[in-house]
Amino acid sequence: MAPFCLQCRTEYREGFRRCSDCGSELVDSLPPEADNREEIDSDMLPVYDAPDQMSALVLSTFLNDSGIRAVIKSEQIPMYDGVAMMLFPRWGQVMVLEDQYEKAKILIDEYMAGESLEEEEPQQE
Ligand SMILES: [Zn+2]
Repeated sequence: MAPFCLQCRTEYREGFRRCSDCGSELVDSLPPEADNREEIDSDMLPVYDAPDQMSALVLSTFLNDSGIRAVIKSEQIPMYDGVAMMLFPRWGQVMVLEDQYEKAKILIDEYMAGESLEEEEPQQE
């Protein structure tokens, strides 16, 4: 994966660590939320409480892949992450459109069930 600057949204070649334009630290890939952070509609509902950014990203990607428009709403202020974590029990929420809420909920339930099954050892009677 090529490194990215989140500020300028510029792609760099392998080996670069900092953006030459703004000096920001480069990330390995552009998080999907950067594209649609501003697109949270008023008729969107929180369908999933994400304990951390990774689960929010994984869940929203999964929903988008399943044909549901999912947007991440973070409640954390990155600069004060440690403090914010104490104020909010969750990192943020995954939002979906109201008319896709039920479908999203079912998909998430199925997804979660599959995830936990994969982690568990096969049970034997
Ligand atoms: Zn930059």
